[in-house]
Amino acid sequence: MTGEPQDDCLFCKIVAGQIPATIVRETDTTVAFRDINLQAPTHVLVIPKAHHKDAAALAAEAPQLAADVLRETQAVADDEKLDSYRIVFNTGSGAGQTVWHAHAHVLGGRGLEWPPG
Ligand code: 5GP
Ligand code: ZN
Repeated sequence: MTGEPQDDCLFCKIVAGQIPATIVRETDTTVAFRDINLQAPTHVLVIPKAHHKDAAALAAEAPQLAADVLRETQAVADDEKLDSYRIVFNTGSGAGQTVWHAHAHVLGGRGLEWPPG
């Protein structure tokens, strides 16, 4: 069923506490934790606790939850005292998506070029 935990999903395992992560924020519906492979001084992933395969599926299947994730990206930026930051949802393998559980990258703490690579 949509939103149910998936046995083979890394981020569902982080939500369940089966894999350790440096969690920086948690709400009833979301978790935010530091990326294991930092691409910027601040690099935090914000995920819904429920499993949705990417940002588009999340928005279609659970729009309120998508809003929760977006609200948390701002909360992370506030916690990290970021004036400017970038939110990235890699969607599809051609765009670099490697984990098939929706997640927002919050990147900041350095100059961010535009357009991105
Ligand atoms: P994607 O490439 O799907 O947009 O992003 C997946 C992100 O998850 C990558 O930036 C990768 O470094 C991060 N990641 C992969 N495995 C782990 C892990 O076990 N722990 C944490 N904290 N991040 C991970
Ligand atoms: Zn999952």
